[in-house]
Amino acid sequence: MEKYKYLIIGGGMAGTTAAETIRENDKEGSVAIISQEKYPLYSKVVLPMYLGGSVPEEKVFLRSEISFKEKNISLLLRANVVKIDPDDKKVFLENGDELSFEKLLIASGGSSRKMEVEAADRSNIFYFQSFDEARRLKEKMLISKGAVIVGGGFNALEIAEAFSKNSIKTSILLRGENLLGGSFDKESNEIIRKNIKEKGISLFSNEQIKKIDKEMKNDVLVSQKDNRYPFDILVMSIGVKRNLDFLIDSGIKTESGVVTDEFLKTNKEDIFAAGDISEFYDIILDKRMLLRNWTSAFLQGKTAGLNMVGKKEAFRHVSGYNVVNFGINISFLGDVSKDENTVLVSRGDTEKKERTQLFLRNNILVGATQINMNKEKGVLAKLIEQKIDLTEFLDKLGDDDFEIKSIIN
Ligand SMILES: Cc1cc2nc3c(=O)[nH]c(=O)nc-3n(C[C@H](O)[C@H](O)[C@H](O)COP(=O)(O)OP(=O)(O)OC[C@H]3O[C@@H](n4cnc5c(N)ncnc54)[C@H](O)[C@@H]3O)c2cc1C
Repeated sequence: MEKYKYLIIGGGMAGTTAAETIRENDKEGSVAIISQEKYPLYSKVVLPMYLGGSVPEEKVFLRSEISFKEKNISLLLRANVVKIDPDDKKVFLENGDELSFEKLLIASGGSSRKMEVEAADRSNIFYFQSFDEARRLKEKMLISKGAVIVGGGFNALEIAEAFSKNSIKTSILLRGENLLGGSFDKESNEIIRKNIKEKGISLFSNEQIKKIDKEMKNDVLVSQKDNRYPFDILVMSIGVKRNLDFLIDSGIKTESGVVTDEFLKTNKEDIFAAGDISEFYDIILDKRMLLRNWTSAFLQGKTAGLNMVGKKEAFRHVSGYNVVNFGINISFLGDVSKDENTVLVSRGDTEKKERTQLFLRNNILVGATQINMNKEKGVLAKLIEQKIDLTEFLDKLGDDDFEIKSIIN
């Protein structure tokens, strides 16, 4: 049985950063990354640009196998963890191998949520979370004319833009009314909707798949309302499933992700979790959070790595997500979930395709959604980070002439 001082499950941004951070701080201890992937770290953020054609394949990859050898980090690719024994400190692989560890990091991220569909031809159904899924979709896109995307999240919008650049006639089907989940308000939604429609994308609300049919030789999506949408490509962009299955019966506490404290430590001694998989205690927002973004995966990988070598670092960061889609800058910051204590304040001129929605709790800013207004983003992040009491500014926040930055000057 191979023994490692530091063992890391997942070779994405969080796992790779943790391994490299450990190596910078412990030159001797053995480090290994286990990854299901065929490849070392690549950028998921550029996959939409790779699909659209503006980023070549070689620019997607961020590390080579040699770079790990040089750092004396073992990289076990195509290796699938099926079980963990936290008390015996062992990890079990699908091929029957067992590895033992002193410290373990779970950085297993997420995979495309799959949906069982009665399908005439499964080879025309696509997902978009990994490089292999992106490459398969790209190969098909280059010989296709029409696509249906199911789902209306960031991923769906980015795929639609890539299709549009490649002259693919595209329809987006939404389960409800809203794009980007429930966080962006009606006005923000309207700006995005109008913009993508102007770019030739068709948008259909309140549609759900019933089945896939054949019409002549073509695939057709049949919705619950019996509407028919012909396609060459069907992309299921219906969210991300956290990779937790191998933790069943391990005793490691999980909810939607792996539950950790602010040091990214799980309920089990010497076991940490970072990146998309980590449901960590956020000391700024004072609640448990699950994130899905590149910068946080990087910063959490760093924090976990430091804690694994024996330092004591809390993860403290106002997370954000930002994409430019069909020329519109769409972003969110912090906590944009709503509960009975959430107060919403809006800013911006929707005619100019600008909109900010501020999320306040107890008169403190906790999050924001923004359309084309990200020049205020830095100030908003500071307000969230510093938990500044905004009571005296409440009646001004919605006034577009009020300079938010004046609050902290
Ligand atoms: C198409 C796309 C576009 C995106 N665009 C943006 C963007 O613009 N901005 C942004 O901030 N974020 C973006 N994201 C999100 C961002 O990429 C993720 O938040 C980030 O990659 C998470 O990193 P991670 O290391 O936590 O997880 P992942 O990247 O999911 O890595 C998880 C790793 O764990 C491995 N693994 C899982 N289970 C096992 C197992 N049982 N055994 C062994 N290995 C396992 C996987 O093989 C993989 O190597 C995008 C994501 C996608 C898919």
